[in-house]
Amino acid sequence: MAVELVGKVALVTGGTRGIGRAIAQKLAAAGAKVVVCGRMPGDLPAEFAFIACDVRDPEAVKAMVAQIVVEQGGLDFVVNNAGGSPPAEAATASARFSERVVALNLLAPLYVAQAAYAQLKARRGAIINIASVSAVRPSPGTSVYAAAKAGLLGLSRSLAHEWGPEIRVNTLILGYIETEATDATYGDAEKQAAIGKNIAAGRLGRAEEVADAVLFLCSSGASYITGAELAVHGGGERPPFLDIVKGEG
Ligand code: NDP
Repeated sequence: MAVELVGKVALVTGGTRGIGRAIAQKLAAAGAKVVVCGRMPGDLPAEFAFIACDVRDPEAVKAMVAQIVVEQGGLDFVVNNAGGSPPAEAATASARFSERVVALNLLAPLYVAQAAYAQLKARRGAIINIASVSAVRPSPGTSVYAAAKAGLLGLSRSLAHEWGPEIRVNTLILGYIETEATDATYGDAEKQAAIGKNIAAGRLGRAEEVADAVLFLCSSGASYITGAELAVHGGGERPPFLDIVKGEG
């Protein structure tokens, strides 16, 4: 089913690179007017409007949404994609570090959703929050990120009820996805292949495949899907205990 988003307006936070950029491209290709934000503009195609905004700042977020409404005539979809965290030992992570990770991965999606609420309600829109497998399995080394992304799952389920039926709210739980930063995150090609071997799909995911899931959740084909979590993780990882028990681990 080809998805048609002509006449719709979408905001993709962190749409300047990585997964967010692929999402922005896919929504624009379906005919939506797409606005992306980030702290820095990056090298963006002309089809996207860019607004500089640190999504951890609720006043800046309100101003960004107001600007979108003036310039684009409204807002139908919010993709809360900006996120991430450097690794840090939980035993020694500073309070400031932890607060900033929670601010980016949990509070910012709330601020953007709140600022967009009236528009999304009036236009029967949708919110797609980008979470991670870190939210649903142990994530040693990025514990605060894991907790913030798990919080995002709870927030999404609750907003789906508070703001339904007019606004649908869904979450994607991403596995390991290739972006410009893949080598820095997952190591060289050999390491990526080894990671992929343990995933049901046999490889890392592609940003375009995440974008396809976002497109579906924005479409009328997802009209009865809200408060849901869709795993885009290629089936996830084979539990290591199976091979340990067989003596192959
Ligand atoms: P990248 O680091 O490649 O891109 C992050 C984007 O977010 C950039 O556009 C960045 O722009 C923007 N951003 C970061 N901080 C802020 C901020 N405070 N305010 C506004 N924009 C900000 O991330 P990925 O594409 O890898 O990840 C995208 C999402 O997917 C994240 O939520 C991440 O947690 C999730 N995810 C990714 C996985 C992966 O394998 N890549 C796995 C699981 C989940 P700028 O720096 O200019 O602000």
